[in-house]
Amino acid sequence: KMVMNLKYGGITKEEYEELQDEILEKDRSSLQMTAICLVFMFTGLFLGSLVNNLMASNRIAYAMLWLCFVILYLITKNLKKKSKWLVLPLWYGAMTYMFVYAAVLNTIVRNDISATTFCIIMIVAPLLILDRPWHVFSYFTLVVLLFIPMAFHFKSSYLAFTDMVNILCCLFLGTVIHFGIIRTKLREMMQRRYIEKQRDTDNLTGCLTKAAFENQMMQCLKEDENAGVLLVMDVDKFKSINDNYGHTFGDLVLHTFGQNLAGTFPKNSLCGRFGGDEFVVWMPGILTKKEITEHLDELVDRIHSIKTPDGKIVITSSIGIAECPENGKTYQELFENADAALYTAKNLGRNRYVFCPDMGKGI
Ligand code: GH3
Ligand code: MG
Repeated sequence: KMVMNLKYGGITKEEYEELQDEILEKDRSSLQMTAICLVFMFTGLFLGSLVNNLMASNRIAYAMLWLCFVILYLITKNLKKKSKWLVLPLWYGAMTYMFVYAAVLNTIVRNDISATTFCIIMIVAPLLILDRPWHVFSYFTLVVLLFIPMAFHFKSSYLAFTDMVNILCCLFLGTVIHFGIIRTKLREMMQRRYIEKQRDTDNLTGCLTKAAFENQMMQCLKEDENAGVLLVMDVDKFKSINDNYGHTFGDLVLHTFGQNLAGTFPKNSLCGRFGGDEFVVWMPGILTKKEITEHLDELVDRIHSIKTPDGKIVITSSIGIAECPENGKTYQELFENADAALYTAKNLGRNRYVFCPDMGKGI
């Protein structure tokens, strides 16, 4: 348990990986907020150094720090999804920069005072960053191990000893507080994710609900440079399956249908149930007609293998296909066109898929 706490803040490795994107987004926004706060702080210090002689010697340092944090703010504000991995290196880089500044200021430039700024950073910085606890702990231990010999080299032994005691206390306190905070934050994120999953999942089939599917597909359309394929499908003559074999068997068919969707299409696809026996799938990315039909053929095989108790009826489905951007760029356009293609498939005798605007292709 102790190792899990150290490695993943009290949750499992799988749970941590599931939260990875959200963690990086939190780190990105806290780094952006920290950078803008530091921009304001160094603006104040720089202006102070213009009027106060005691601060005048730090003027260039303030101006350089101000510039660095303006750049950091602009980078973190405009970080693209693909470059999110940069967030943590930027965080550690910014902290190292602040530590170097504090060490130089309170140890080399002024070696007759305590390293107060250094201690403040030791306590505040770990409260803002969300990373695996052992990464944070190792980083701060390394910082302390580098600082102590430096303090003894540049300062009188009494002051260096005081600095060492203060900084070890900060390391200990910072670590304990950080462990507590990271555990609470990660648990909260897991709980929220669980509740959202429950809300967005259709109980019977495991597919997304209509609202969740629409939201997530619109999000995908924004991010994936508008390329993908929307499939709208409906089980054929499902009423007669219910009538002949009962509602419970009908439910089982819907459940198996939903599970097959999740197993057939690529991992990044969205599978939804729009109520009744109507399902939708969004496959993001550029796909050739051949690739689409390969997936559909696999799905058709799986659906045909669902057996009715007496083996008399083969379960089939009709499918309408709309490609983005050829058949529409918005969710609404794509859905209407795929739905129209589904309608055509039904009219042509069911058990087939129809590309929009091509008409009729028997399975
Ligand atoms: P078509 O080939 O034209 O699609 O004919 P169909 O009989 O499948 O017609 P339709 O798709 O309109 O019928 C859907 C039926 O699905 C109607 C309803 O009784 C049934 N249904 C809706 N929700 C559920 C459910 O949760 N479980 C079960 N077992 N049946 C459901
Ligand atoms: Mg139907």
